Amino acid sequence: KKRNPYQPEFVQAVQEVAEDIFDFMADKEQYHAQQILRRIAEPDRVVSFRVCWEDDAGNIRVQRGWRVQNNNAIGPYKGGIRFHPSVTESVLKFLAFEQTFKNALTGLPMGGGKGGSNFNPKGKSVREIMRFCQSFMTELYRHIGADVDVPAGDIGVGGREIGYMFGQYKRITNQFTGVLTGKGLEWGGSLIRTEATGYGAVYFLANMLATKGEDLTGKTAVISGSGNVATHAAEKIVQLGGKVLTLSDSGGFIHDPDGIDQEKIDWVKAHKTVRRGRIEDYVAAYPNATFVAGKTPWGVPCDVALPCATQNELLGEDAKVLVANGCKAVAEGANMPTDLDGVHIFKAAKILYAPGKASNAGGVAVSGLEMSQNSERRSWKEEELQQMLKDIMLGIHQSCLEYGDQGGGYTDYVKGANIAGFKKVADAMLAFGVV
Ligand code: NDP
Repeated sequence: KKRNPYQPEFVQAVQEVAEDIFDFMADKEQYHAQQILRRIAEPDRVVSFRVCWEDDAGNIRVQRGWRVQNNNAIGPYKGGIRFHPSVTESVLKFLAFEQTFKNALTGLPMGGGKGGSNFNPKGKSVREIMRFCQSFMTELYRHIGADVDVPAGDIGVGGREIGYMFGQYKRITNQFTGVLTGKGLEWGGSLIRTEATGYGAVYFLANMLATKGEDLTGKTAVISGSGNVATHAAEKIVQLGGKVLTLSDSGGFIHDPDGIDQEKIDWVKAHKTVRRGRIEDYVAAYPNATFVAGKTPWGVPCDVALPCATQNELLGEDAKVLVANGCKAVAEGANMPTDLDGVHIFKAAKILYAPGKASNAGGVAVSGLEMSQNSERRSWKEEELQQMLKDIMLGIHQSCLEYGDQGGGYTDYVKGANIAGFKKVADAMLAFGVV
């Protein structure tokens, strides 16, 4: 805390990992002597820059942009770009730190990074978004590269924004390389990248349930968010026979007791990404549903829960309510959606609880596969990619079982993910000596 004042999200993320790693390191002198945890918790570099752009009324606007390159011990820095007014250096440092472990867990050669801006895309015209993205890339381009640092999308950055940024990168450098992932299929993107984070989270959830001899058939699911991760998690839950009861956005949540089926999910996708509307409009289209303003959905009784919106959206008291209502499993689609109190409550209740760095790794995994396809200048088939995604999620689940087994049939997935991710990165750093 002293070293990183005013960075609560970053301190929270490091503390969560440190709690598990201290146990693991207790009898491993090499990690202590080499100060490995401290080195991973100090980003390789944080680049902060001005992003200047002109709005439609001709006003000059000034935003701040960042790229946090946390660690490249096992591959080029890799991690998304977030455009949201809540973005700060602390938020991006926490995300880059988490990304380092997540990327290691996928088994693919990717280091950890994250970037973004406090730019608020809501209410901006398409031309304003384009001008902002171009200005952002005009500085960012000098810090990234297909073998250096490969950003992707995140909150507020979808296919459209990646297109504007990739176009600008190509224009400045005169190179067509795999410098960004989440690209359009016509220009180097990979099939199933859009679906991968949400689908992967549900595959992970199914893997956890399978350890108890259960599956998703007939299970009720409460999901937060209504963006890329939430809608694709909902889609996969429905495909596997579950019933989705809620979705949300920063205005509140909708509860549909009839279940949010594929047709309704398609409506939400179009409403949020094409019409740029609010989730509260859902009740006009589907009147059996109710909208609860300014609240998160955790009070709705369910079998499984998937927080898929943002960090610290599921607090200790929410975790208590979920457990009291009989929730059996929680798989995080978002990054660090559960605060530390909530994590401790899930662990104490011994429910199946997967941290984002394990359960939402499907997106970056398929980004890694996009990088491979770009390097090879080819595109793999959808069936091949679906199978690779399933295999990677299964592999991450196995790593969690290996390092998180607490005996008595209980797996601490947080501990498992932290140790497995840490070990891989730490061992690479040891091999490099003191650098
Ligand atoms: P989107 O921008 O597509 O959707 C974000 C959703 O979360 C929207 O419904 C948004 O509501 C809501 N949201 C954002 N900020 C807040 C907030 N402060 N309070 C309440 N709701 C909020 O982003 P993604 O779906 O891509 O990302 C969601 C989460 O998943 C993030 O934590 C991200 O880091 C994580 N993630 C994403 C990956 C990906 O591949 N996209 C990969 C791995 C993790 P509103 O429309 O009102 O803003």
